[in-house]
Amino acid sequence: MSINNNKGNLIVISGPSGVGKGTLCRALLKKYSDIDYSVSATTRKPRPGEVHGKEYWFYSKEDFEKLIADNQLLEWAKVYNNYYGTPIDYVQEVIDKRKDCILEIDVQGAMKVKSKWSEGVFIFIAPPSKEELIRRITFRGTESDQEIKKRMSQTDEEMRCISNYDYVVVNDDIDKAVESIRAIIVAERCNITRLDSLKADIG
Ligand code: 5GP
Repeated sequence: MSINNNKGNLIVISGPSGVGKGTLCRALLKKYSDIDYSVSATTRKPRPGEVHGKEYWFYSKEDFEKLIADNQLLEWAKVYNNYYGTPIDYVQEVIDKRKDCILEIDVQGAMKVKSKWSEGVFIFIAPPSKEELIRRITFRGTESDQEIKKRMSQTDEEMRCISNYDYVVVNDDIDKAVESIRAIIVAERCNITRLDSLKADIG
């Protein structure tokens, strides 16, 4: 008998704007080569330095709506008046290669994934406090005051969704938060419900 898992896991990461999801994901991907990242599609305008195909696939509204119509997205949502969505083909390709695939998506998208792919691993990144969140998003300097207000007004609603997730990681220290996420990913690979050959043997 060999014990294995035929597919990689889908790792869904959400949390309020400014909490540091992007920084944590970049650090994870740099450190661990057995994890991949799903580049989302969006209609949001690129921030300075963002590259098509790296941070996001940047599309017009019309092209994004075509992706929806053609069923090319695992999930999509309208977040802060822009469309964001997860192209399904790449995710499938990664997990078929037995690698874990990270989706950094908002809470609405995460719940859509949960309804289709309940075996995903759902991780919520929480700020140490609301004051710290405001400080971080202001310090980032990529959004206008109006945009910051819009994003902060969503925070309470997003925080209320915490109980739908499997894990919560508080991002008060980047290195510690990265290692907590890594520990979750490794533990989930050993989760007995995911070991296909064992399930088959048990019957
Ligand atoms: P930002 O504009 O700051 O890059 O992202 C705004 C929000 O959209 C974040 O909460 C981010 O996690 C979310 N987001 C990014 N990609 C996707 C996606 O593919 N689907 C969904 N539903 N949300 C996404």
